[in-house]
Amino acid sequence: MTNGQTLRFSCKPGCINCCDQEGYVYLTEQDLKNAAKFVGMTAKAFEAKYVYRTKHLLRLRKPAKSQCHFLSSGGCSIHPVKPTQCRTFPFWPELVKSRAEWRRTGGYCPGIGHGELIQIGTALEIASEMETAYPSMYED
Ligand code: SF4
Repeated sequence: MTNGQTLRFSCKPGCINCCDQEGYVYLTEQDLKNAAKFVGMTAKAFEAKYVYRTKHLLRLRKPAKSQCHFLSSGGCSIHPVKPTQCRTFPFWPELVKSRAEWRRTGGYCPGIGHGELIQIGTALEIASEMETAYPSMYED
């Protein structure tokens, strides 16, 4: 567990470091529908253009030279409907449950270790949303 029973975190305005990390953005079926509606597309058309579907997961296709089609210099262009994974960061199970991983993530996330005190119970509650949203990623 990290830092006793509390963590500090406050997202830094203007920062896009987490969006810029190497990796994939996974979606729930609801995330897909919300994003499609937000950009004025049908879910089917949005999926065909932006989503790669595997047996258990949906993930955004990556453009050639950036991490995400929806990341602009001003930040996330679908911010109000951003996928569960993006919305819950940095309260991911693997970060909240490991002091070392939380600290390592603080290497690129300037919000970690600053600002509001977050009770560990609140952090774990947010983390459980990830486990529910992407069960195949958190199976033992
Ligand atoms: S890296 Fe941290 S501070 Fe920067 S945008 Fe992401 S959550 Fe906010």
